[in-house]
Amino acid sequence: MIDQAKSLLKHHYGYSSFRPGQEEIILNLLNNIRTMGIMPTGGGKSICYQIPSLLLPGLTVVISPLISLMKDQVDELSEIGIPSTFINSSISSNEVNERLNLMRNGHYKLVYIAPERLDTASFTRALRSLHVSLVAIDEAHCLSQWGHDFRPSYMRIPELLNGMENTPAILALTATATPTVRKDICEALSIDDNAVVQTGFSRENLSFHVLKGIDQDAYIKEYLQRNKTQSGIIYAATRKEVERLYLAIEGSGISVGKYHGGLTSEERERMQEQFVYDEIQVMVATNAFGMGINKSNVRFVIHFQMPRNIESYYQEAGRAGRDGESSECILLFSPQDIRIQQFLIEQSMLSEDRKENEYRKLQEMTNYCHTESCLQSFILYYFGDTPSEACGKCHHCMDDRETEDVSRDAQMVFSCVKRMRERFGKTMVAQVLVGSANKKIKEMHFNQLSTYGLMKGKTQKEVSQFIDYLVASQYLSLSDSSYPVLQLTDKAVYVLKGEQQVQRKKEKKPTQIVKSHPLFEKLRELRSQLAKEGAIAPYMVFSDKTLNELCSHLPTTKAKMLSIKGVGDQKYERYGEQFLDEIILFIDENPDYSTTQTSVERNESDSVVQSKEKEMDDKIPSHIQSYTLYEQGKSLQQIAELRGIKLTTVESHLLQASSEGNDIDFSNLINKDTLELIQQAVEKVGMENGLKPIKESLPEEINYFSIRVCLHLINN
Ligand code: ADP
Repeated sequence: MIDQAKSLLKHHYGYSSFRPGQEEIILNLLNNIRTMGIMPTGGGKSICYQIPSLLLPGLTVVISPLISLMKDQVDELSEIGIPSTFINSSISSNEVNERLNLMRNGHYKLVYIAPERLDTASFTRALRSLHVSLVAIDEAHCLSQWGHDFRPSYMRIPELLNGMENTPAILALTATATPTVRKDICEALSIDDNAVVQTGFSRENLSFHVLKGIDQDAYIKEYLQRNKTQSGIIYAATRKEVERLYLAIEGSGISVGKYHGGLTSEERERMQEQFVYDEIQVMVATNAFGMGINKSNVRFVIHFQMPRNIESYYQEAGRAGRDGESSECILLFSPQDIRIQQFLIEQSMLSEDRKENEYRKLQEMTNYCHTESCLQSFILYYFGDTPSEACGKCHHCMDDRETEDVSRDAQMVFSCVKRMRERFGKTMVAQVLVGSANKKIKEMHFNQLSTYGLMKGKTQKEVSQFIDYLVASQYLSLSDSSYPVLQLTDKAVYVLKGEQQVQRKKEKKPTQIVKSHPLFEKLRELRSQLAKEGAIAPYMVFSDKTLNELCSHLPTTKAKMLSIKGVGDQKYERYGEQFLDEIILFIDENPDYSTTQTSVERNESDSVVQSKEKEMDDKIPSHIQSYTLYEQGKSLQQIAELRGIKLTTVESHLLQASSEGNDIDFSNLINKDTLELIQQAVEKVGMENGLKPIKESLPEEINYFSIRVCLHLINN
């Protein structure tokens, strides 16, 4: 059975091996063992039910609260040749009945449904009458009242399962489950503790950062400038803050969108779509954004304010890097964030014990912002994992910043707070310290304090930020009142007495997340074009990870292309040739890269190529071997057959040989008129956008090789 599962994995998805946990879960399901899978975001949960759905006889029902994601999931499955559909509030009741009929007739292998459907008895009845072999429950933490996203409709799932005639296999999936939540889920669905497959919550490709007491606006601006071509999300706590940031970022020339509950649903949909389709780079949003997106190439998630608990933070931050490529999660912490969250809990309609629970979670979140040890490990401990070592790439693990002794400045702040009798907030204290001429300061006679103007060399903003830093580092605390006042903690008293020092690390400049391969942008453009033509999101054509693999392996044949992770049979049929053409063109224009490619080609186990190539001298580069055969009078087709390589590879070999100075008379291959036609087309549409627009402006029968030859002649 597992061999069959593996060949389906290769055929549909283009992957050669299972990720941790996947094989165990699939085997359990094939043996009808109720199973729970706890895997981090991007861990590959979908495959755990999609592959069994292909191996089991009937239908697989996937219950998911992520309604806006369903269409994308169904589109993605269709891209890889798996028939599926969805039923949620976006379709009419006629359409629902039609889809149910098609299910009855075995038209689909999978159906995604929203949990709210289970509130309707007639729908539950219809579902029970189908031959359901597997029920997968996505975001299973919604079953638990102690989770961060409880949904009452989820409570109907056990009822549905009990009423089904054949006993379907059951899979509960989640990325965020504390031990209490996990226990709740197992009890509700009668899952044995031994059937919980937990791969750990760690996300190896994410690096976590917490920055405190900095100029947040300036940081964001610089960060976006440095990472201009990358896709990212900036979360802010309120609609107002989203609007403000959106305008500020838009003004600096970055392509940005916004998303919050105050926009109309059309506006939200449009923004989301533009983001998913890579038409806008950065999305500024409240936490209303993200539940429904599966975009795999989000390279950074920045939190402008601290969220309420670690579960929400990890879920939101975890939207970065689903494709497994390096990505950053940055939290900009400022002490008043805690007060905002406390206020929101206080105002909520929760029962007293749930409020208590929320306060506890908020405290853990605050501790995360203050910890000085590995941030990834902190999160893992929170979820009950015991990481064996620090992550080695978070803010603290990578912290080689110089420290600065700021004890004297800190003493000035502390004594000012003390002299103002610990009855004023940050703004007033900062104004006194910089010697502000504000009327209120004079009225209160603060201009007569010995600390008045003590820090007049600094701006009020700088002093305010320094106070934030002192609060974040717990030298000062903010009172629990509607007008929070600064108070000294014990730590500050030691500093005032000169018994302890305050060290502050110099802030690092934002860095560039990834340095792109020169071919990456070209492949990305091609991906966008193809996605537009097919009206699907670019990541559905190929993920960033697959594009990166194409850049590092530079495959030039179908066999090699199929050995790239993420290139399955159907994807190759749809897009393979066009990507091969782009890669071959790149190699022509950048012969330096092809040297590495030649060695990669040799190392790979493409037996046909290797055995045929062995017949010739291994020391002669592959392209020269093709060139030599051409010089001996062989046609391109004959060379391809003789050497067991693709015709397009022979073509690029000739171009490479020519660009290295070997004499090739291309007029034997392409006549003068054709070359002239191509030349005119190039003049008209330009070369900047690759081959495709040139090809499209020419008669059908002129192939890509002729265009490449013409460009080669123009460039040499
Ligand atoms: P999750 O639902 O756990 O967040 P997904 O199911 O969306 O994760 O998978 C995340 C990414 O990992 C997808 O691009 C998926 O194709 C890829 N993936 C899943 N399983 C494998 C595998 N065995 N090998 C390589 N990539 C995989």
